[in-house]
Amino acid sequence: MKINLFFVFTLIFTFSCKNNETGSNQGETTLIPFEIYERVYGVTSDIHQDDNWVYINVNSLPDHGSPYYEGTQWEESLYVPYDGSNPFVSNFILNPNRISVQNILFKIPRNPSQSSVSNPTAMGPIGFALNGVPFYNQYGAGGNPLDQEINSFDQYNGHPAPGPTGGRYHYHMEPFWLTANYGRDAFLGFLLDGFPVFGPEENGSILTSSDLDEFHGHFHENQDFPNGIYHYHLTSDAPYLNGVGYYGSPGTIN
Ligand SMILES: [Zn+2]
Ligand SMILES: [Zn+2]
Repeated sequence: MKINLFFVFTLIFTFSCKNNETGSNQGETTLIPFEIYERVYGVTSDIHQDDNWVYINVNSLPDHGSPYYEGTQWEESLYVPYDGSNPFVSNFILNPNRISVQNILFKIPRNPSQSSVSNPTAMGPIGFALNGVPFYNQYGAGGNPLDQEINSFDQYNGHPAPGPTGGRYHYHMEPFWLTANYGRDAFLGFLLDGFPVFGPEENGSILTSSDLDEFHGHFHENQDFPNGIYHYHLTSDAPYLNGVGYYGSPGTIN
């Protein structure tokens, strides 16, 4: 009996050590508390989850003013002319698209984990910000660098896209409205692989892409994830939000 008890204690000790060792391992899957998902607003239906996925429908309507609300049903309350304040814009050019309401379903992994295969991002939405506005990658039309398109970003650093999804407003870079409201070091949304996105500041200093890995993120703990989590950061230098692709396996967009 004594030996059995000793065996049991050894077993328990071994398992707790193992848990401690792997508890902050970035290869492990991470369960994100549901209340973190519930911080996303600008949704068209309730956020829900099953065992493997979280389902978030976003409306893509910015909750801040924009020159791209001109001539829309929201013009009276949300139209503001470009005010010249965007530091990335050298010569503002209003593009011909105007904001329209969308209904984009993001299905993202509930237990995001590092992928063993390469998962490059596609054109179009690659994630979403807290206000329901999609994030896009570092490329403009035709897979070209954003250099020209940046001049059509409004004072909140977004613009609407042309084409069949006409008027889908999105951010390729720091969403100034959200960082002004929540802080430049705040949790700001998710990419499609279920890993969170943070602003450009961390522990009082401003990050650049050189502080991050090839996916444009890194792993450590912060106030929202005290046990540590892999996360992306927005930076002022290219590629701004994502590097060579998703760190984890992406979910789907409909
Ligand atoms: Zn764009
Ligand atoms: Zn960080």
